[in-house]
Amino acid sequence: MHELSLAHGIVEQAAEAAVKAKAERVVSVQLKVGRLAGVEPGALLFCYDLVAKGTPLEGSRLEILDLPLVVWCAHCLKEVELPGVQSFRCPTCGTPCGEIRQGRELEIASLEIEP
Ligand SMILES: [Zn+2]
Repeated sequence: MHELSLAHGIVEQAAEAAVKAKAERVVSVQLKVGRLAGVEPGALLFCYDLVAKGTPLEGSRLEILDLPLVVWCAHCLKEVELPGVQSFRCPTCGTPCGEIRQGRELEIASLEIEP
């Protein structure tokens, strides 16, 4: 299960950061997830709770920051946000856009810790 190994990675990283900050407990983790990251938020939240048990993250909240898909349009010469992942065409001019500027992210944005 993809989300389980993901959850492991997040908890490991966050626990390490908490130790470095000399924190007893992590209150919440904000995670940036792009539309193209292929993450099922419900499954990730479920796995997160499982994996967090017995770590400084037990009982903490995982907040998923959903990042929309942004591509570069070579015709409009600007970054445009796509409404979905089905069509990679500029919503303004219809030009196919393959240069992804945002949407693949899968990283911890911030941690809320309890000193
Ligand atoms: Zn365009």
